[in-house]
Amino acid sequence: MDLRSLAKVDLHRHLEGAIRLETLLDLYREGGAPLPETTPGELAPRAQVLEVMDSLESVLARFTVAQGAFWSEAAAERIAYEAVEDLARDQVRVAELRFSPEFLCEPHGLDWDLAMDAIVRGVRRASQEHDVAVGLIAIASRNYGIDSAQRTMDFALRRRDDLVAFDLAGDERAYPPSLYVEVIRRLEGSGLKLTTHYGESGGPQFPREAIEALEPEAARASQIVASRGASVRTLRRLASRGFGEESLEALVADLERRELG
Ligand SMILES: [Zn+2]
Repeated sequence: MDLRSLAKVDLHRHLEGAIRLETLLDLYREGGAPLPETTPGELAPRAQVLEVMDSLESVLARFTVAQGAFWSEAAAERIAYEAVEDLARDQVRVAELRFSPEFLCEPHGLDWDLAMDAIVRGVRRASQEHDVAVGLIAIASRNYGIDSAQRTMDFALRRRDDLVAFDLAGDERAYPPSLYVEVIRRLEGSGLKLTTHYGESGGPQFPREAIEALEPEAARASQIVASRGASVRTLRRLASRGFGEESLEALVADLERRELG
């Protein structure tokens, strides 16, 4: 069996790490600052992870070459379009594609919303042409600081119709989950899901704290039920505020258990 020909779901692709080498070379040239490398073969060792690496931070350093390519709305649209075309080439039919607006837009001072419009255009066009369903995720890059995380949350809430989730990524050990409690609380009722990168360079306490401190939706929903009282009205209210079916089902099951107990 040729695994490459099977239909797939890819829930973790970073736009920053999904740019074709030829496209990086083209976009740097078009932006007036050509890379010293002139062929994909020359560029690969700097832009791709081709060997076992010693740390998360050294893997992330390979992403920085993406920043210089993201210099115009046309560049953003091309990158997004090709990323989805490449998903289709990998036989991916459903995908989540994530990117950090601060990381990609900051170096060339691109407007986040105009860049987002361009990404959405590229994704939509390629999705229709290649029949791939794509959900976009906005990443807050931890190493830009907490103000950036708030700015990215503003962006995610403003653009929630074009997104499926909010994500935390970047340097891990200096930025434990407890720092983000206030930021993540703002997701409540937005309809956006939360994903986080923890447990890549920090120890097991990091993902544990992420689950406990950042309160997955089900935990937030049960807090609301605890404060408002369990009733059909509370559940309807949660549903209307964007809480997912899974969380609500878990709550109903929990209530039934308590009533029976
Ligand atoms: Zn990731």
